[in-house]
Amino acid sequence: MRVELINTGSELLVGRVLNTHHHWLAQQLTRMGYTLAHQQTVPDTGEAIQAAVREAIARAELVIVTGGLGPTGDDLTRQRIAELLDLPLEEHAETRARITAHFKNHNRPLRETVLVQAQVPAGATVLRNDHGTAPGLALPTPRGWLVLLPGPPRELRPMFTQAAAPLLAEKLPPENPVTTRTLKTIGVGETTVEQHITPVLSELMAEGLELGYCARAGEVDVRLTASGEGGVERIAQAEAIIREKLGPRIYGVDDEQLEEILVLQLTASGQTLAVAESCTGGLLAHRLTNVPGASTVFLAGHCTYSNAAKQTTLGVQAETLAEHGAVSEAIARQMAEGARAVHGADYALATTGIAGPDGGTAEKLVGTVFIACATAEGTDVVNACFATDRVTFKQLVVQQAMNELRLKICK
Ligand code: ATP
Repeated sequence: MRVELINTGSELLVGRVLNTHHHWLAQQLTRMGYTLAHQQTVPDTGEAIQAAVREAIARAELVIVTGGLGPTGDDLTRQRIAELLDLPLEEHAETRARITAHFKNHNRPLRETVLVQAQVPAGATVLRNDHGTAPGLALPTPRGWLVLLPGPPRELRPMFTQAAAPLLAEKLPPENPVTTRTLKTIGVGETTVEQHITPVLSELMAEGLELGYCARAGEVDVRLTASGEGGVERIAQAEAIIREKLGPRIYGVDDEQLEEILVLQLTASGQTLAVAESCTGGLLAHRLTNVPGASTVFLAGHCTYSNAAKQTTLGVQAETLAEHGAVSEAIARQMAEGARAVHGADYALATTGIAGPDGGTAEKLVGTVFIACATAEGTDVVNACFATDRVTFKQLVVQQAMNELRLKICK
């Protein structure tokens, strides 16, 4: 089955908006067992949209189009596709009622022009929009289905999950479902991961298992793909072999994030965490508090950038600062122990380092960082060096700090 995606929007072509729909929808489709064969981005003009859709529906069973379903003059997708398929537009009473209610609920005057969104091509299945006014549409084509989704991500994503995906699973189930699983590793390079894994998977690979590696900052994803009969079993076998080889270097699977794993684990054990950050400037607290339910386990985050703040907030000692400097094992230790004591937390993490580009010395290079993890048993401090730009430096330090805690609490 051929699956194609058409993203409409001149703003995507001039680089003003990042095409996140491509990334997100490709992931969802893969997870459902479809493989995206082709993606294109076209400008908002009616001609470009019609030409792209005409070609795509002639060769693909499933075509998804995003954007251009709104009420403004440059939103042409609905009309131009109706024209292309030679379908009259008809009023969809339920959508009209929903749009009217939406404006009433938001206390906004209803302009007649927005009701154009209730005009749908005859025979279309309407996909309800719970976060906006433009409905999505699913239309049968000679080869399969054409699905139109609205542009705003907060409208498209729930609509795809709640309405489009179930419809596709029913009307156009994948013929030869592809199963994928991603094992996320941390603290080990791509080549090392490959050297560990590839030799022990040769048998499964000969049977059709595909192996892919994706290196990201401080991490390597191992992607397992298999299709057809026995695909799920082959992936399970491969995962067991890889886990045996890489052990705790695998921290999660698929979309799992380190912060989610930490919050989940701490919640399960009824334990708490505080953080004290210098060089990461609050990013660690930010990542942890992005997780729903973090308030159960996350007690406090301090962004103690100056020496004075480290002393007054965390009890860091002036003599230690004078003797070792703010970027040192001793200070990382005092910061973590201070945060843990101040808040009565079970665990505390602390970061102190030189993000650069200035501030390095012969002994402490730009990129030097000390990460401390304080527990009831004592405090461990690791020293690393990430010589990179400031933003990547912060991300790498935060990722390693969270991993230090994970290695202690996820046995
Ligand atoms: P609206 O009712 O807002 O007009 P629409 O369905 O007509 O919705 P567009 O006008 O094409 O959609 O896009 C609305 C907004 O959605 C854009 O300004 C952009 O911020 C966002 N958007 C559109 N396409 C994408 C995309 N591929 N990736 C990320 N964001 C997108």
